[in-house]
Amino acid sequence: MKSVKQIDVKRGITVAQLIEEMEASGVLGAGKIGKAARLVADMFKDPDYTVFLTLAGALVPGGLRNIIAELIKKEHVNVVVTTGANMVHDLVEAIGFRHMVGTFKAEDFGRIRVTKLPPCIRQLLAKVQAGENLPHSGRFALTAFLHALGMSPEEILHMFSTSPDFDESKTRYQIEHITGKISGTEYTPPECSTMKSYGICFGEDNLCKKEWMTHPLKYYRIKDRSPKRKGKVEGKEKEDF
Ligand code: SF4
Repeated sequence: MKSVKQIDVKRGITVAQLIEEMEASGVLGAGKIGKAARLVADMFKDPDYTVFLTLAGALVPGGLRNIIAELIKKEHVNVVVTTGANMVHDLVEAIGFRHMVGTFKAEDFGRIRVTKLPPCIRQLLAKVQAGENLPHSGRFALTAFLHALGMSPEEILHMFSTSPDFDESKTRYQIEHITGKISGTEYTPPECSTMKSYGICFGEDNLCKKEWMTHPLKYYRIKDRSPKRKGKVEGKEKEDF
């Protein structure tokens, strides 16, 4: 066994020198980046290599379009294997549209309808309305979710007022902290994986079971945009908040 070489970062260090330091450490992510960089350098140097570039994931929306284009233009890659989504994302930019930086804070949700809520939020809401105290994680998730849908801090406070342990000043403080009024940070609702780890996912329906279902707000957005469901929901005004 050999000891781990500690990485030295000095003023003015170049990217190449930093990669060399990482490679010399030989361990964990730094070591792997060093090996990967060496492999890529060897591939680009050797004219006999056939370099396949495989693309998956939101690369163009992630800002890598120019880098991929340069790799192709400079013939650093011979073959590109890509998902269709990457082609579409590239075409979108090529015809002059742009991908935008978005947030889960949606101004266009309109009126909140219970029938569009994901099971987790519906359950949390039902518990509050049934006079049950929620765990802290549940209060946080419910507050952040309803705030993201446009519910005001006062409305959220009113919603929690039926909880047995309701303390107006404490609850107001927590809501104003989560919604950014006093903290300066608007907290986004937790992702599905976090909800599961908190134990507040509360059973999953078919939409929840989709591989790409990663966030309760995504669930709401999809239900909101489904014309079939929309038609059904619009007849149920009594289910509005
Ligand atoms: S999978 Fe996600 S959206 Fe569905 S109930 Fe669980 S946390 Fe909510």
